[in-house]
Amino acid sequence: MIEIIAHNMPRYINRYEAWRSIDEPKTNIMIHATEGPRTVEMFVNGEKIVNGVVISSQYVIDANFNIHLIPPNDSVLCFHVGDTDFRNISGYRHNRKNSIGIEHENSGLMGSFDNRMYAKSAELIDYIINYEKHPIRYIIPHEFSSRKKLDPGVNWDWNSFENELRNCDLLFSSQSYTLTKKDKLWGTGKTFTWETRIINFYQSLAGSSQLENYLDQKDYQKEVNLKVIGTGICLIIIFIILTLLLKEK
Ligand SMILES: [Zn+2]
Repeated sequence: MIEIIAHNMPRYINRYEAWRSIDEPKTNIMIHATEGPRTVEMFVNGEKIVNGVVISSQYVIDANFNIHLIPPNDSVLCFHVGDTDFRNISGYRHNRKNSIGIEHENSGLMGSFDNRMYAKSAELIDYIINYEKHPIRYIIPHEFSSRKKLDPGVNWDWNSFENELRNCDLLFSSQSYTLTKKDKLWGTGKTFTWETRIINFYQSLAGSSQLENYLDQKDYQKEVNLKVIGTGICLIIIFIILTLLLKEK
């Protein structure tokens, strides 16, 4: 049985929102690296604040390979990635609303990862999918969802990570990308080029009917909105024509 250390992070610290309840299904897992120590402590104490929000992810795996759940549960929205929509190769959107963040503790930008880290991460992902029943479709690295961030970075070994996912009997396909980014955050101006991957769980997962219902609803909403806009435009055109006709008289 998986062991998870619960922290029940308060919702508000120093006026700033740390996490928010949300009904959007979690369809993505986002892979992060802490690039430094004390992440659990910093998250729980609300020490990391960017643009007025307390930064947190749902899960952190520390340097001793302990899994921590930071907010009261993993269905809430945490601020571990921007709220801009990025899209993967299938056009699938990923942002903080539909993503569960897993931070992996390492020593810095060029910090490496132990094989036990990949094993723990795979065990946690198996738990998120098969026990928590989140309709996860993709595993996405943070570097792919951000123009600035470089994590999990150059030293994340995708082959070892994928082997551990296979050990958990998770079925997936993966797509490789080459990323080139300049390190701005550490002020070195160094350019990094490395290979990263997106993992796609194409199997039918436990929560997928919940996801399909949600997406159907969204499509319906879009159609309704388009109809309203269409009707509005027609009325405006009729109004303009009538005004012109009246003016001519
Ligand atoms: Zn990150």
